[in-house]
Amino acid sequence: MYVEVAVNLPPVRGTFDYHLPPRLRTKVGIGHLITAPFGRREVQGVVIATPSKPAVPETRPVTSLLDPEPVVTPPQLELAHWLSAETRTPLIDCLTLMLPPGLSQQADSLYHLEIEDAQVSGPLQQRLLDLLRKRGDLRGRQISRAMPRRRWRSAMESLIRRGIVSRTPVLDPPRVRPRKIRVVSLAMPPETLHPAELALGREGSQASTRRQKTLDALLHAEGPLPVRQIYESTGATWADLRWLHEHRLIALSESEIWRDPLEEVDFVPSTPPELTQDQALLWEAIRPNLETPGRNPTKPFLLQGVTGSGKTEIYLRAVEATLKSGRAAIVLVPEIALTPQTLRRFLARFPGRVGVYHSQLSDGERYDTWRRCRAGELQVIVGPRSALFTPFPRIGLIVLDESHDESYKEQLRAPRYHARETAQAYARILNAVCILGSATPDVVTRFRADQGQLQRLTLPQRILGHRERLQRQARRLGLRPEYRPIGGDAQAIDLPPVRVVDMRLELKSGNTSIFSRSLQKALRETLDAQQQAILFLNRRGASTYVFCRDCGWVARCSRCDTPLTFHADDQLLLCHHCNQGRKPFYRCPECGSARVRHFGAGTQRVQAEVERLFPAARTLRWDRDTTRARGSHATILARFAAHEADVLIGTQMLAKGLDLPLVTLVGVISADIGLNLPDYRAPERTFQVLTQVAGRAGRGLLGGRVILQTYQPDHYVIQAASNHDYEEFYHQELRYRLDLEYPPYKRLVSLTYRHPSRESAAAEAQRMARVLRHHLAERASRGDLIGPAPCFFERIRGHYRWQIILRGMAPLDELPEDLPEGWAIDVDPASLL
Ligand code: ADP
Ligand code: ZN
Ligand code: ZN
Repeated sequence: MYVEVAVNLPPVRGTFDYHLPPRLRTKVGIGHLITAPFGRREVQGVVIATPSKPAVPETRPVTSLLDPEPVVTPPQLELAHWLSAETRTPLIDCLTLMLPPGLSQQADSLYHLEIEDAQVSGPLQQRLLDLLRKRGDLRGRQISRAMPRRRWRSAMESLIRRGIVSRTPVLDPPRVRPRKIRVVSLAMPPETLHPAELALGREGSQASTRRQKTLDALLHAEGPLPVRQIYESTGATWADLRWLHEHRLIALSESEIWRDPLEEVDFVPSTPPELTQDQALLWEAIRPNLETPGRNPTKPFLLQGVTGSGKTEIYLRAVEATLKSGRAAIVLVPEIALTPQTLRRFLARFPGRVGVYHSQLSDGERYDTWRRCRAGELQVIVGPRSALFTPFPRIGLIVLDESHDESYKEQLRAPRYHARETAQAYARILNAVCILGSATPDVVTRFRADQGQLQRLTLPQRILGHRERLQRQARRLGLRPEYRPIGGDAQAIDLPPVRVVDMRLELKSGNTSIFSRSLQKALRETLDAQQQAILFLNRRGASTYVFCRDCGWVARCSRCDTPLTFHADDQLLLCHHCNQGRKPFYRCPECGSARVRHFGAGTQRVQAEVERLFPAARTLRWDRDTTRARGSHATILARFAAHEADVLIGTQMLAKGLDLPLVTLVGVISADIGLNLPDYRAPERTFQVLTQVAGRAGRGLLGGRVILQTYQPDHYVIQAASNHDYEEFYHQELRYRLDLEYPPYKRLVSLTYRHPSRESAAAEAQRMARVLRHHLAERASRGDLIGPAPCFFERIRGHYRWQIILRGMAPLDELPEDLPEGWAIDVDPASLL
């Protein structure tokens, strides 16, 4: 009779009680999406409870039911409560995560005439009745089409109130196949394409003009264009497109949804291989929990294994066992466009049962996948962090691949949840198995495993690959594969050797290039052997810290040891932790050298340098600038995989799960960039990215090597990464965290304030800090504050950002109940930048 509803009407974010009118009594329960009156408006909300007595004496009735099925399951509701408390976010915002975008727009109502010969007054009501008499039951959209530009809804409301017409919510059935259309995209990065200079057929002919127009249109488009649109806007014909395609200027594809750049290069077996000895041992620890679910709750598994050690094969086994037991599996991956091979293995192993979420789906497509999962038509979802909220009826398994990846943390809007933490909480609620896989687990998770909160399993050896796959590779490369069996059809190989090059010595010996002599030599050898190289530049944080090119000294804050950041505006070095500023250095305080400056190379400069040194080398750039357009990841990857380029130059994206057998050299231009960011997680992040990038070399029969260039060759992160030694890094890092009181020993909450005016932002942050200090003192708390100080990325979209970090054993308890407008809260922030 009564329902408690979480309503969504910013800024109102509470829960309110309503009653159910008779027609809805048997239809509405916990988890349903409804509309209800709020003030003078109609709002949407989710039913979260059915109290026997309302909290207020007078309740208003629920207006309508938007979807006959619940939109959140009971475990999801429980998870939403957990999220709400953990992230300090209103419940409705947590529930909204679980609804597909645009759900309410997709819902419609079916109108049915109850009283054939009813008498009505107004002409509009009369027309509605005539329409229903003539055409039978109609949907809202059909009525709108039949009566264009008429506001018929309030007339219909009064017919419903009088019982003349009845209304039931309906939804279109989901489309089983995603919509497919032919699309055209550029086959090369826009900056390398100058239509005017290309030979596009006989000069001045009509065909060459049409081809020219087509390329122009694609150059100016944000991404691929539908074939039909090209025809219309340029007059081009199918023959023109085919011509451009044959000349490798454009790519044609069937579906705008998903294109697999490696399909032709890389063979994926669809039958499970026999497990290696390492895998079999590990699988025995996981298997019983999947086969007899729900007996005793299991700890989450931390599956730690170097890249290529066979983790994904374990995920596949786990999904198979889950499906056999009649339950569904959620598989999270950092970003599908960057990890196409992982996705393809799931699609190949479980055909017809896998749904995919990725950033290029339209709202409608996402909604259809969501509904097919809810109905149990699909049993596996592969997608980014949001796929965690897929409403499967029964969930037995949650997997996070590359679980250390930062894309699992929502950083932009509330709730700022971490999918890694949320997945573990959800698995607890569901009594499901949770597997966190990584070659470089985040320090906090690994620490918890050491404390017994997770069960850690390891895969120490790298697998070269499946026998069939290697044979195909060998045929393609004209090689004879060498075998080193480790059980089943797999062979083991060593991780690629890493050579650390001290850039200080390069400079001393007169080499001022951004490439050391070793890297130049290795590049030459790789190119001569017709193999491929990857050059990695960690762009995040480049050109912000100041260091000595002669001795490697880095300018740090005298108070908190944080690397200082150079601000050109006021010619000042600033500490982003304590806000202390100082004048720039003109001489190195360590060695007296005058070469104190910041690192100034971007990917473009690296590319130019390769082209200068090796004019015959074909280069390809993969960074944020070249991947703005839709589908460009796939295009770049496909071209590199097809050996249309020799050297791939890129940023962080390169670190993800690529497996390219022709790559025999990985060069890291400056391994220190990123290390010197003012964030306690900078060393961890740098170690992870270096290890992942190094793992890209030597994944094929040709072997490989890695060259790490650095100005700080003795730094523990560089040392550990060059030895592929996670343990060395982890233990050293823990010591620092203990000394400096950072997680896992303390917890952090970041409070960020943004304002268009710099002065206001600073003033409010100072005020808030005083309030918090007072609050801490009053409670005799052991917690403390870091800051207030401007954020490292101080100005974002015209707003100045200041932050305060609250640190303690339980900082959430130290926080005042309500924060003033303009403050954003991030519990356990993934980054302090
Ligand atoms: P990871 O996920 O740790 O990077 P993968 O599961 O992708 O490792 O395994 C690396 C390579 O070894 C892949 O090509 C995979 O097909 C192959 N492989 C994994 N396990 C086996 C096995 N038991 N037998 C044969 N090949 C295997
Ligand atoms: Zn120096
Ligand atoms: Zn400082």
